[in-house]
Amino acid sequence: MNFKDYIRVIPDFPQPGISFKDITTLLNDGAKYREAIEEMRKMIADLKIDLIAGPEARGFVVGAPLAYALGVGFVPIRKKGKLPYDTIEVSYDLEYGTDVLAMHSDAVKPGQNVLIADDLLATGGTIATCVDLIRQVGGNVVGAAFMIELQDLNGRAKLPDVEVFTLTQYP
Ligand code: AMP
Repeated sequence: MNFKDYIRVIPDFPQPGISFKDITTLLNDGAKYREAIEEMRKMIADLKIDLIAGPEARGFVVGAPLAYALGVGFVPIRKKGKLPYDTIEVSYDLEYGTDVLAMHSDAVKPGQNVLIADDLLATGGTIATCVDLIRQVGGNVVGAAFMIELQDLNGRAKLPDVEVFTLTQYP
């Protein structure tokens, strides 16, 4: 089956020129959502994974069911100011300005193998920041898995030493 049939593409959202890949239509179909997570689980079946980390909000929707399927823990990576305990933070560049992602400093122990999960790989800036956070506390990033890859944006270039897994690709 083709997952693209379940992904709604919205032109010019949230701004002109962006072709938005809306996964809510996939999430809305219980069988297809489960199938997508199951296909992702198969893609990473050979990895040794202790934890899955995902950036808010769609990284939770992909990462948490994957963690549940594997029987490993889940680490939420959030925008600055949302996590209640001690955090480490990394700022990253957006198209206009910067943003800050945070993770609980005790969420990943040194030497733990962490897979990062998110809905979509675009420029790779978000995931490169997640890699930075995990490595700062001594975690070992074993890969990054996405439902969707936007190939023309070459997000893989920002993740040169990370194995990237993607379920479906757009130009
Ligand atoms: P990036 O840091 O550029 O790789 O993208 C960060 C996040 O923005 C992705 O995880 C997506 O959730 C979201 N995003 C970026 N571009 C798109 C798009 N064309 N359609 C849907 N979501 C997008």
